[in-house]
Amino acid sequence: MEAKDESWKCELVDNMLEPCKGLENSIADYYHKSKCKGIISSVLVNTETGSRRTQLSLKSGDYSEKGIVINYCPFCGKMIQTYDIEQHTKLTK
Ligand SMILES: [Zn+2]
Repeated sequence: MEAKDESWKCELVDNMLEPCKGLENSIADYYHKSKCKGIISSVLVNTETGSRRTQLSLKSGDYSEKGIVINYCPFCGKMIQTYDIEQHTKLTK
């Protein structure tokens, strides 16, 4: 099957993450995300525009409460950053 290599990588569809197998299997239980550690997948909603996006974060060690935003999939290496880069750049300048 030609699409096999592609299907192994994460995909972003309208800013919603469709994780690759490795990532999918490592995402911690969504329903217990406030307590658990590990890779957390959350859906963020922009209340102004109503747009939704997936944010992946890692909760571990010193960052077990706030978490660290992950911009790349640790399994397939694909960029999975979903925030608006231009807007982010403006905000941080
Ligand atoms: Zn991946």
